Order: sequence, then C-alpha cells, then structure tokens
Amino acid sequence: MTDRLAELGANLTAVRAQISAACAVAGRDPAEVTLIAVTKTFPVSDILLLGQLGIADIGENRDAEAAPKAAACAAAGVLLRWHFVGQLQVNKAGRVASYADVVHSVDRIRLAAALGRRASAAGRAIDCLVQVSLDDPGQAAGRGGADAGEVPVIAAAIAAQPSLRLAGVMGIAPLGQPAGPAYARLRELAELVRAAHPDARVISAGMSADMGAAIAEGATHVRIGTALLGGRRPFVR
Ligand SMILES: *Cc1c(COP(=O)(O)O)cnc(C)c1O
Repeated sequence: MTDRLAELGANLTAVRAQISAACAVAGRDPAEVTLIAVTKTFPVSDILLLGQLGIADIGENRDAEAAPKAAACAAAGVLLRWHFVGQLQVNKAGRVASYADVVHSVDRIRLAAALGRRASAAGRAIDCLVQVSLDDPGQAAGRGGADAGEVPVIAAAIAAQPSLRLAGVMGIAPLGQPAGPAYARLRELAELVRAAHPDARVISAGMSADMGAAIAEGATHVRIGTALLGGRRPFVR
C-alpha cells in the first residue's frame, strides 16, 4: 500500500465517521448521504486511489482541470460519476456537457438552455441542480448562485430540456457566518422546488468545515475536499 493510499484511506474513514455521527444526531440514515470527493488541485493519481477506496463520485470546479482528469480516468477504465461544482460560463457548457454526469451550478436560464442543447447534441443525459445564493442580498460574494426568487423559473427551465434532469438544489454557506441558518434556507427552497418537481430530491450542501450543519438540514450530497485530500495550495484563477 502506498503512503498516499493509506493517508487517503485514513481520511476517508474519518470523514465517514463524521457523516455517521451527524446522521445519528439528525436521526438520519448515513446511506441517504452521498460523499462527493472534491479533487480540484489534486492529481489524477489521487482520484484513482480514491476509486480504489470505493469513492464513486468526484467533484471538480474548473473545466480546464476537470476535462483532462475525466478523460484520463476514462482511459484508465475507471468509471466515476463526475460532478461539476464550479461557476460555469455559457461558452463552456458544451465542454462540460461532454463529461459531467451532474452539474451543481446551474444559476441562469441561459445556462440551462446551453447545457440542454449541448447534452442533446452529445447524446448525453445530465442531472442538474439549481445553485442558490445563500449570501445576504446585496452581498455578492462571487460564488455564483441564483437569488431565491429566481429559483422556480430556473428549475422549470432545466425541467423543460429533454436531455437534462432536474435533480434538486445546491448551496454554499456564506463565509464567516454560522452555516445552519443558510442551510435551513436552502432546505426551504429545496422543498419549494420539490413541490413542483417531485423527483428533485437532491440537496447538495456541506463542505469539510460544515458537513454536520448541512446534514442536520437534510443534505443528500456533501462535497468534501480538504478533509479527504488535505490542504490545497492557494491558486490564482
Ligand atoms: C472546493 C469546493 C468544495 C470542497 O471544499 P472543502 O472545504 O475543501 O471541503 C465544495 N464545494 C465547492 C463548490 C467547492 O468549490
């Protein structure tokens, strides 16, 4: 066993224990919570090791990095579910539609339309989440996300695309504030979306620092980077 495999294995055990503990507190079954390993800035070799450890879901936030990683894993014969979790420009929709299984960051009608068109052209079906801004109004933090009032129309725009499946909602808690109230708002919006689209059950919420708060508010998917892979070097986009 390589040192890195042992390290990732130990981190994975600790993260799974945290998820189980949070589920126990919330009275939930850990099987309801899917762990997505967010591997941005880490090499393909780490993704392959995570695959050996049983991770099936990989998250990336930049197309320029995600596309070659997805291609390398496919070439190695390793089947993974690719989650695109970063802000997405309309002009990158075609590329992302060629490998992403789930896009968490649909926050504009035009993006839904572009993803739908490009997924159809590629003969692919993609799950999409409406990314909701959990920042205070007027406090644009540049993390993307639609205002709460826009969520129903964006959800409808996704549902109207034959090659897209509206799967639910995604949110990122604001920095420097308790995550619980933000995730409670996300859960309310998730319920609003689900009232109109009963199959849209996904709540993508929770990162390394706040997965407990997210699970308490019904997260079905947690997106974990640092706690699994270690600290990232700061990088400039
Ligand atoms: C990087 C990233 C994560 C993981 O964050 P950690 O704090 O390292 O767990 C989750 N979601 C998104 C959208 C990210 O960009």
